[in-house]
Amino acid sequence: MILYSFCWSLLKQTRKPSLYKAVAIISIPKIIPRAEHTISRSNISEGALKVLYRLKNAGYQAYLVGGGVRDVLLGREPKDFDVATNALPEQVREQFRNCHLIGRRFRLAHVRVGADIIEVATFRAAPSADDADQNTDKKNDLHRTDKDGRIMRDNVYGSVEEDAWRRDFTINALYYNIDDFSLVDYTSGLEDLNAGRLRLIGDPEQRYREDPVRMLRAVRFAAKLGFRIDADSEAPLFKLGYLLDDISSARLYDETIKLFMGGYAVQTFELLRHYGLFGHLFPYTEADLAHEESHFPLMLVSRALTNTDARIAAGKTTTPAFLYAALLWGAMRTLAHEMQVQGTNAHMSEGEALQEAGNVIVARQVQRTALPKRFSLPMREIWNLQLRLTQITGKRPFVTLTHPRFRAAYDFMLLRAEAGEEIQELCDWWTRFQIAEGDEQQGMVNVVRTGAAASTGKKRARRSRSKSGKAVSASQSGDSVE
Ligand code: ATP
Ligand code: MG
Repeated sequence: MILYSFCWSLLKQTRKPSLYKAVAIISIPKIIPRAEHTISRSNISEGALKVLYRLKNAGYQAYLVGGGVRDVLLGREPKDFDVATNALPEQVREQFRNCHLIGRRFRLAHVRVGADIIEVATFRAAPSADDADQNTDKKNDLHRTDKDGRIMRDNVYGSVEEDAWRRDFTINALYYNIDDFSLVDYTSGLEDLNAGRLRLIGDPEQRYREDPVRMLRAVRFAAKLGFRIDADSEAPLFKLGYLLDDISSARLYDETIKLFMGGYAVQTFELLRHYGLFGHLFPYTEADLAHEESHFPLMLVSRALTNTDARIAAGKTTTPAFLYAALLWGAMRTLAHEMQVQGTNAHMSEGEALQEAGNVIVARQVQRTALPKRFSLPMREIWNLQLRLTQITGKRPFVTLTHPRFRAAYDFMLLRAEAGEEIQELCDWWTRFQIAEGDEQQGMVNVVRTGAAASTGKKRARRSRSKSGKAVSASQSGDSVE
């Protein structure tokens, strides 16, 4: 590693292609034989084993690499298994009936075995110094970087050794060889794994510039594994967040889901904010969190993330719709409030303002991190139901109860109450209403409610109007509840 770092810094000074190549030649891997490591075939999914053996039997090299190796070594259950091979994507496809080639920036084979999808990547070489000097005008290259050093295409194939050096973190560059069941370590990944250390391979700033998403991956792995980010890999995180602004919203959506729906959302959120990265994913949420008025938005977000982590730990389902609803609720409410008190929109009812602010916030947010319609529509329903839930007389509560999104909306309302919105009375009403018998339910909807119970729950600091003691009838129609 020391030798490697030395060569890397020399390389950065000279940028000589010949020296760059020398890096690959001088690295001697540590090979840990089967008897001396803990990865056994019983830890590897049937699908991954099938793919590994099929490639090996066809005469190709085949290794398990990435999270599958890392997590098994840590005694964790891997999320998925990734395979690396010297077979070209087309050659991989020839071996499997159920195989699709995907990706342009990074061409991969997806092999479906039963319910499993195994990602099979051909060994890749690091960019050569010549490649690094290329500009964006040169089209159709196999390897291409833009003016900031960002990799636009990464399809130069190489040896397993070259493949190891172009991976992101040392702990992600450990290879399990299906040929002799040994573990192959080119980058001192095992040492870092044992030390609980997350370290980028190569020059950290350059590696983040090549692919800014590696910053999000650093945070994700640090949170998930409880690892410390090595000082050199950590320092650039504080200043390079802006590079995320050029990443496509589709890719950032994928990363957002991995960040917040991987079971470690609370720590991930704290780290993202610590490094100033969160605002590059959710700028409107970040702006709202910075609002000095109350701790309410932060409370809601952290409660929602705690809740998501707990559900995942308990094996329950979670949906991006609920996550986005919580992350954007504060920003949407603040905007709705501004719309109601400002200029030409001052005539708006609360419901109209919430609706319009919802449109605006979602439209803005999807430019940063996309959100597929199948999630944005239920997210809007969860929001819209918050207003419907304030209507607790007559027939309306019975209709609301049958809404397919009722449960999510009710859970969301409970979170808002926990986060400090003054809607506890309303929450209690719905809790009782759901379990009440027919007669009791009827009695509940016949009572005319007053005060806080019928509020959509303004932030405490803004509840000056309700202090006037103005009675509020929940039977007031539609959107306006105050
Ligand atoms: P998990 O699947 O548990 O989230 P992982 O490490 O397997 O973690 P994947 O996204 O599945 O992550 O990627 C598989 C491997 O591919 C990584 O371990 C790493 O070696 C390599 N890799 C993925 N993304 C990058 C990247 N942006 N830059 C360099 N290498 C990467
Ligand atoms: Mg993986």
